Amino acid sequence: MAAGRHDDAGTGSEGAFGGGGSAPQLPSQWHREADIVVIGSGATGLPAAIVAREAGASVILVEAEADIGGHAITSGGNVPLGGGTSVQKKYGIEDSPDLLFRDLTDWSVVGANGFPDCRYNDREIIRAFADNSAAAFEWLLAHGVVFVDKAPDELGGNSVGNSVPREMHCAVMDWPMVQTGAPADPAVRKTRSSGNGLMRPLEAAARKAEVEILLEHRMTRIYRQMPNAGPVLGIAVDHKGAPLNIRARKGVIIATGGSTGNIEFRRMFDPRLTEEYCGLAGMPWSDQDASGELAAMAIGAALWGLYNQTGEFGANVTKAGLIGCQYNYRNLQWMPGSRVFARARATGLRVADWQDVILVNMLGRRFYDETGGQYPANNYNSIDPYIQGSWRNIKNVKYNPNNFLNAALAGIDDGHNGGGPIWAIFDQDAVAREGWRPTPPQVDIAAGFFFSANRLADLAEKIVMKYQRVAMPPHNLEATVARYNSFVETGVDEDFGKPAPRYKIATPPFYAAWATPVVHDTRAGLRINAQCQVVDLYGRVIPGLYCGGESAGGFSQHGLARAVCQGYIAGRAAAAAPPVEAMLA
Ligand SMILES: Cc1cc2nc3c(=O)[nH]c(=O)nc-3n(C[C@H](O)[C@H](O)[C@H](O)COP(=O)(O)OP(=O)(O)OC[C@H]3O[C@@H](n4cnc5c(N)ncnc54)[C@H](O)[C@@H]3O)c2cc1C
Repeated sequence: MAAGRHDDAGTGSEGAFGGGGSAPQLPSQWHREADIVVIGSGATGLPAAIVAREAGASVILVEAEADIGGHAITSGGNVPLGGGTSVQKKYGIEDSPDLLFRDLTDWSVVGANGFPDCRYNDREIIRAFADNSAAAFEWLLAHGVVFVDKAPDELGGNSVGNSVPREMHCAVMDWPMVQTGAPADPAVRKTRSSGNGLMRPLEAAARKAEVEILLEHRMTRIYRQMPNAGPVLGIAVDHKGAPLNIRARKGVIIATGGSTGNIEFRRMFDPRLTEEYCGLAGMPWSDQDASGELAAMAIGAALWGLYNQTGEFGANVTKAGLIGCQYNYRNLQWMPGSRVFARARATGLRVADWQDVILVNMLGRRFYDETGGQYPANNYNSIDPYIQGSWRNIKNVKYNPNNFLNAALAGIDDGHNGGGPIWAIFDQDAVAREGWRPTPPQVDIAAGFFFSANRLADLAEKIVMKYQRVAMPPHNLEATVARYNSFVETGVDEDFGKPAPRYKIATPPFYAAWATPVVHDTRAGLRINAQCQVVDLYGRVIPGLYCGGESAGGFSQHGLARAVCQGYIAGRAAAAAPPVEAMLA
């Protein structure tokens, strides 16, 4: 047992992450122990656990939720691993670790809105990714992941490097989908890309390798010998209200998936992201509550690469694709058969044509062209022609500052940082054109994400819910719709330039559906090195602590590839490390 004061684990997050003073707070009892303890069973955690186990280490993986998978299982399964994979070679695509490294550190790559994608990436972290990317891909193949049999492309990725196509797609196969509770149509089992096709094979591989998976075990604290010194010794978890201490003989791997679900944490990067942005992509399957970051920061860890979170890239914040429900990310629709549907409450209405609605703020005022999109995604083909590191790339980018999201987040000049709720307003004719059924379970009336009325003034008055901080003035909504209808008559949107406004909003009943932007990616987190070891505020490695995926910083890329690859690196490094006891005084 390590030296220090011996207190039993608290499980409240305030106590766990809130500090703890200068004295060590180590448990009087370890209830469980393993060589490696992995926190989180998503795209980072499962690979880390399997790699470590197959290297001979015993592994306990704790997962806060009742099922594995994290955001990764809800994802589109598009995986941009490159650097010379067998599939790239099969299709004659010449890639290499060096080409991948230079792509992801290319200062000259700029998105169409002027934000540089790769400029602030940490070279050490990208070098490690580039050197391990192809190996991580082959490792997925060897562990049962089936990829759609086609050439790599650029579909579904962003910030993955511009030189060559690298995006691969996990076939859904026969795995039940968490979104529906049922397998996909057999006709598309080998062609549909899905995170289910990534994570269920990895779960099977982990269980086969005898990784011990503890579901509904939420990490609440990381134990270190001293608050700012010595090795990490284990973690505290909460299991349905019961505290448990798990000792890690060689290392703890943080694979908790990021911080965008934690309002105070995400506002360090963007003060506008206040509480009304409650539609985090991937929820309610799993949260991104910053618990990994906070637990590591409480023992001295540093954050890193913070620009990558503030920068306006790809899916960091997205326009709502579904309306009338809380969880409205465009690529994730929860259906009644899903295990988490009771938490999701509604499927939402998918908007096929933004001409069918207007979008208004809390005050019932339009703020932008509704057909506007979101931040651009830099990818293969987005700069044409692209020459690595060339000053000409910036000149070849067609500048297109689509500011829909910034307008939606701009607010109503009442001193509040966030933009407040955004409502899609439409009429019965729009319902018919879109083929919507504006009743539960398609829309969430009970929780206040959908309203209807026969008069616009009544509709405005009905919009009462916890994020609507000010009442919508009925005359505002009436005036907004009347003005919009006049634009439909003239064919010119004089206020926001919506191309040829097509349909009047005139046929009752009228509807107001939640269409507030969605928070998605975390692209900044804990400082790590090439071995995925966590580094402290003084630039020193915290012995026995590792991190990867969305909880790690220094790497601006959407999603799965960096998570899988860093899990692969962290699992290997932790298994090869000597027992931390050797470091104890
Ligand atoms: C709808 C959607 C579609 C996406 N599509 C793509 C795509 O096509 N391609 C792509 O590249 N990326 C995609 N992404 C992003 C990608 O899924 C994530 O970047 C990736 O899953 C991150 O991996 P991770 O391991 O960091 O986190 P996750 O996969 O989210 O895993 C984190 C896990 O840690 C658990 N956890 C958190 N805190 C604790 C705690 N305190 N104790 C115990 N467990 C904890 C969580 O419950 C979760 O299971 C998508 C994301 C979403 C939401």
